[in-house]
Amino acid sequence: MKSLRTFLIKPLILGSGGVLLLMGVLWLTIPRCELYREDLTWSPVLRDREGQILNVGLAGDERYRLRVPLAEISPTMVKATLAFEDEHYFSHPGVNPLSMMRALFGRLQGISRGGGSTISMQYARMRFQLSTRTVAGKMQQMLRAIQLEKYYSKEKILEAYLNTAPYGGNVEGVAAASLRWCGLECSDLQVPESVALVMLPQRPALRRPRIGQDEHAGTMAARKRLLVKLGHNDEMLADYRWEAHLLPRIAPHLARRMRSYDGPSTIDRKMQSAVEGTLHDYLIRVQEKGVSNAAVLVVNSSSREVLSYVGSADFFDAKIDGQVDVIRAKRSPGSLYKPFLYGMAMEQGLLHPQTLLADAPLRFRDYNPENYERDFLGPVKAGEALFRSRNLPALSLMQRIKGHGLYDYLQQAGIAMKHGPDHYGLALALGAAAATPEEMATIYASLADDGIPRPLVFRRGEMAQSLRRMPMLSEGTRWMVRQMLAETASRDPMAEPTYSFKTGTSQGFRDAWAIGISGQTVIVVWVGHSDGRSNPSFEGRGIAAPLMSELFHRTNALQPLPPPPPQVRKVELCAVTGMIPCEHCRHRTTGWVLAGVSPIVPCDLHRLVWVDQRTGMRVAPRDDDPMVKAEICEFWTPEFLELFRLAGLPRRSIPESAEVLSQSNEAPQILSPMRDHLYQIVQGSEQGLICKAKAAAGVSRLFWFGNGVFLGSCKPSEAFIWNDASGPCELHVMDDRGLSSRVAVMVERPQP
Ligand SMILES: [Zn+2]
Repeated sequence: MKSLRTFLIKPLILGSGGVLLLMGVLWLTIPRCELYREDLTWSPVLRDREGQILNVGLAGDERYRLRVPLAEISPTMVKATLAFEDEHYFSHPGVNPLSMMRALFGRLQGISRGGGSTISMQYARMRFQLSTRTVAGKMQQMLRAIQLEKYYSKEKILEAYLNTAPYGGNVEGVAAASLRWCGLECSDLQVPESVALVMLPQRPALRRPRIGQDEHAGTMAARKRLLVKLGHNDEMLADYRWEAHLLPRIAPHLARRMRSYDGPSTIDRKMQSAVEGTLHDYLIRVQEKGVSNAAVLVVNSSSREVLSYVGSADFFDAKIDGQVDVIRAKRSPGSLYKPFLYGMAMEQGLLHPQTLLADAPLRFRDYNPENYERDFLGPVKAGEALFRSRNLPALSLMQRIKGHGLYDYLQQAGIAMKHGPDHYGLALALGAAAATPEEMATIYASLADDGIPRPLVFRRGEMAQSLRRMPMLSEGTRWMVRQMLAETASRDPMAEPTYSFKTGTSQGFRDAWAIGISGQTVIVVWVGHSDGRSNPSFEGRGIAAPLMSELFHRTNALQPLPPPPPQVRKVELCAVTGMIPCEHCRHRTTGWVLAGVSPIVPCDLHRLVWVDQRTGMRVAPRDDDPMVKAEICEFWTPEFLELFRLAGLPRRSIPESAEVLSQSNEAPQILSPMRDHLYQIVQGSEQGLICKAKAAAGVSRLFWFGNGVFLGSCKPSEAFIWNDASGPCELHVMDDRGLSSRVAVMVERPQP
């Protein structure tokens, strides 16, 4: 007996040990494989700032297939899938011999109990594209399932199955299926949808949802069985019907642009829908004018995040080349650069909003703008010149600004320039360099925020990168520009919600623009044809500004202008010249100036003259003759007088002086700098001390001396600049008759 036992047991132990060893060796030799098919592609997905899906595109093989982590799939759906497909998924090694045997016996008895395939095996069949109708195919499927199980966790394999299983039509994976057949994201699937969806992968062609039709009785019965298995009432699905849902198609241009990025974008869903809706309504209203396309970009100036992105009126409309993303197209900007030009001019002390500029048909050295503008306003306040977008004052400022001022500014602020500054010349002020709506939003957002240029942010959580450390324009200047552009500038933009805005119209009416700022919201509107065809309706103020205004109202973005920063002061000014009023300036106004920067020179336009009523001639002052009366006259320079005349606004001429006047022994009176004042020369500016004197009539030249040294001469109507004035200064002016006066001032300069 003993020998028999030994005889039997020994080989049994040895044999099973050998089998185990062999299996162990085989297990170790199983090669690694990738979890997903190498040529598998995914649908590009655009998500909003909350991570919700805005747009789904087709994967490379024309299928809708979204990749989502298992954690983002509704647990109800996962539970239902396991209950229906593979109850013991988490306890078998990839193959479940018991269920295979059950399936085999079932088949022998003629009862279908499924294929006995585990989820791992089903995934292996899809992953390796196996045909499992043959025994060899089935064996291969089992080995592949074991191979997958060796290298990937149960969760990963289940995730891969749920992401790639066929759910009818060209829909693969539970995420695309729940959007397509239930109108839900897969994280929101409840019991009825889950139970309906889990039936699809086994027979996608047969069970593919038929919208509005009754289900097969077999499918209904299977759903009821699954409901019971999951512990629910089997009546729960009695009235469940498939509904047609289009896959989300919001912000298609941005979806295409960000197709390789899967995380949350910066898009605000509510804002995007409001913008798309407003644009749609607006285009219906203006279609009679031949307007059919527009682009809108909404940006938060503080974070530089893009909140709304509309690249064309309709992505799917071939008639308007809807697929062209105008947000990234270089277009001609018209007057949109002017606010930055005025900002620089203010920063360089050339003007403040009330400064009188000449809107004159002037000729420039290398540029003749007369074709641009046949009408002109004559003298115009800087604020009005900017608000009304006058070309001629802008060109004149362009000439006065130092260096390649505007060119350098725009380039550093984010406009990619195709050519050097000389290519554009003065015409840059009128929009000679093309820019994209995105670039425009970039430079206006920095104007609305802290003046530091940063590219726009499209990915949630990303910080905008500063392109410079210092602001391009000071806080005071930025505020002044916004104030000049305020819609309700005539009222009080700090008291009521408003926006600051600038319009642009390209030459030949090809592009109409409007860009608005309110609070932290910047809205860029472009209207035109993407192929560049012109239309007389494409005029910024007429066609783009109304849409921009409507967008501000519809998105509830309007806020009052913030209060002025400390550098900005409200001062009393002569209403005619915008200068510091003298005793003879009768019309006065208040205006904003930048402390220590803005030109604040006393008004020398309004002067008192004495007129002999009998002759109408100016005479020397006297109070013993009742026929000699004092009058206030405006002493315009010949250039301005000519300008008024050309503009059809002739000024009253100053009474001619009687001969006696030339013998007046009035010494020139220094108006600027003012006696015993402290002057600060601003950091970075190359500005000197502005010297101006009121000369007696008949004087043709003034000679200036600083601390006893001859500095130079000028006409009485001109200001003289003392460039290197510093410390305690004594300024001395002498007219051409040798009469003189002097003032002492203190000039502070920043330490180099
Ligand atoms: Zn005045």
